[in-house]
Amino acid sequence: MNKCMLCGFDKALLLHHIIKREEYGSSSEKNLIYLCPNCHYMAHSPEYEEEIKKEIFEKTGKKGEVLNEEIIQRIKEYVKKKTGTKENDWAFQTFERELTNSGGFHARLNRGIIR
Ligand SMILES: [Zn+2]
Ligand SMILES: [Zn+2]
Repeated sequence: MNKCMLCGFDKALLLHHIIKREEYGSSSEKNLIYLCPNCHYMAHSPEYEEEIKKEIFEKTGKKGEVLNEEIIQRIKEYVKKKTGTKENDWAFQTFERELTNSGGFHARLNRGIIR
């Protein structure tokens, strides 16, 4: 039975990325933990984010994990090509956030669209 890693509540659990997907957090076991809706809300609130990260580390030993550098570079190249913009452009950042946050890059990597 899964439980919230912070408070132990065992219903309506959500799988949380310790390092956000839009910050290139991976979807591996090292970056994922179960949280209840309440703790999850706090984990995403700017006010408690850091505190919760510390608590996650103390309770689970997990610091989160980012994707490997080569994959990050490949995604950035793809976004550059798709948007015709550079990294500090609004269009680049919007597209990049959508792609990483939805996990949409996984399918594109698998199909060789991002190479
Ligand atoms: Zn909880
Ligand atoms: Zn989350």
